[in-house]
Amino acid sequence: MSRVESEDLSVAYSHLLNYKICRKCGSRNPPRATKCRRCKSKNLRMKKRYVKKK
Ligand SMILES: [Zn+2]
Repeated sequence: MSRVESEDLSVAYSHLLNYKICRKCGSRNPPRATKCRRCKSKNLRMKKRYVKKK
């Protein structure tokens, strides 16, 4: 009954932790986005969080 759910979780978290922030309006965009979905600005910066390893 127990599948490897931890792996699925890590994938889900990586999606949650990696995204782009629009410098113009500050909205969150998917990592692959080339322009803001809200204001169409291309001024995006990558927001990346790393999981601390001990
Ligand atoms: Zn924007």
